Amino acid sequence: MTNREVELLAVGAGPSNLGLAVALEELAPDLADNALIIDRNPTIEWQSGLLLPWAKSQVSFLKDLVTLRNPRSRFSFLNFLKSTDRLDAFINLGNQSPYRLEISAYLNWVADSLTRVKLELGQDCVAIAPSRSSSGALTGWVASMADGSTITSRYLVIATGRDPNIPPALAGLPSDRVIHSTRYRPAIAGLQKQLPYRLALIGSSQSAAEVFRALRSDLPDSDVAWLMRSIGPTADPSSKFTNELYYPSYVDEFFDTPADGRVLIRQELYKTNYSCMTPAMLQSLYTDFYRDRLDRRHDRRLITLTEVTAAREEDGEVVLELTDRRTGSITELRRDMVFLGTGFNWQPPKLIQGLADAIGLKKIDVTRGYRLVVDEPAEAACYLQGINEATHGIGDSLLSVLAHRAKDITFDVLAHRAAGRSDNGASPAGHSADILNQIAGR
Ligand SMILES: Cc1cc2nc3c(=O)[nH]c(=O)nc-3n(C[C@H](O)[C@H](O)[C@H](O)COP(=O)(O)OP(=O)(O)OC[C@H]3O[C@@H](n4cnc5c(N)ncnc54)[C@H](O)[C@@H]3O)c2cc1C
Repeated sequence: MTNREVELLAVGAGPSNLGLAVALEELAPDLADNALIIDRNPTIEWQSGLLLPWAKSQVSFLKDLVTLRNPRSRFSFLNFLKSTDRLDAFINLGNQSPYRLEISAYLNWVADSLTRVKLELGQDCVAIAPSRSSSGALTGWVASMADGSTITSRYLVIATGRDPNIPPALAGLPSDRVIHSTRYRPAIAGLQKQLPYRLALIGSSQSAAEVFRALRSDLPDSDVAWLMRSIGPTADPSSKFTNELYYPSYVDEFFDTPADGRVLIRQELYKTNYSCMTPAMLQSLYTDFYRDRLDRRHDRRLITLTEVTAAREEDGEVVLELTDRRTGSITELRRDMVFLGTGFNWQPPKLIQGLADAIGLKKIDVTRGYRLVVDEPAEAACYLQGINEATHGIGDSLLSVLAHRAKDITFDVLAHRAAGRSDNGASPAGHSADILNQIAGR
């Protein structure tokens, strides 16, 4: 099997690493020339499992891969619209939030527009191990692909998203019975539209709401019991004031806040991003419920204040044990299949956990510059994108900060490379403005 070497390997070709590719091409062309992005999927799609025709981005088109960092970039969403002859139509629609499909097409266009960074699709990275010199020093990373080939690099940037959250009560069920929202579209493609399935849907997030809405047209004759622990679906309580805490400029302040303060801020902001839905989605769901009642349809229903406490497969069906949180009483619900809108695991993805284990890290922590803190001198560096909400704030998993984060990582790599770095990366950001201005030619 082949082994290749690049200077920088970026695992995952979602918005984070495509934003990084843009930053590399604009700020560090020589590094870009020796950088490779890989993705396990055969095509570039944004959140492909829920790439529904009516779903929209929840943020402004200006929060694309680059505009907040460099509004003059040729990689902007506006330039994408211009290049694909859709600028007039987009403006005329008068909407700040593009359809998810448009963002997905934009990501494809950016990938096709890269001239230095290479991109390979269909490369599933299954493990990452350290590479060491004869003296034992950490000199790089060896990423193993599912086909047995390996890619070695001095710099590694992991942006693979989070692992789906499967509630423990359902973890023992076969995967064809439990469909997380990240697998919604492929799972639906394998079902028969006209059949009256008995379905459960668990969760109260935007994703759960989207699955519930999509099931109306994808499996119109099915019986859907939508289960949630909370008292009922609620709208995102954000305001223009709290939205300021999603600004890239807020990352510094959050990073410098004491640990207890960060926890408090995250608790205060939790509902602005999790276990809630957009006001527009809430209105549309309620309208659907209203119409169902008019039509005397009672087989698409909400079951609130209920926890799924156990599950088993029996006689070709899933048996869910439901605990009523008001009374503690337990009932059973028999279903053909369970859909999950339960979000993502808070633990680092298995790929990153495996890497941390391989270098003996007890704790996965990053500097302000997103560099993994390793417990030893290192000539190599690894960066983590999208999983640093605890240290870098509520916007970390979103589009909001990624244009700036790509610059932070690019500059940190350049500074590390220029310094022939051999510390353990424990100091925040770890680069002086002077070095970076020199590197960036300013
Ligand atoms: C349904 C949904 C809607 C969202 N809508 C918004 C929104 O409107 N606005 C917003 O700001 N945020 C939104 N988000 C948050 C979302 O996390 C970010 O918008 C953005 O997608 C994060 O980009 P990313 O590149 O870090 O991760 P991802 O977009 O998750 O991309 C990760 C990439 O890594 C690849 N990958 C994973 N594992 C491997 C592996 N082992 N080997 C190779 N490749 C791998 C995946 O195939 C994928 O292409 C949404 C999330 C979801 C789930």
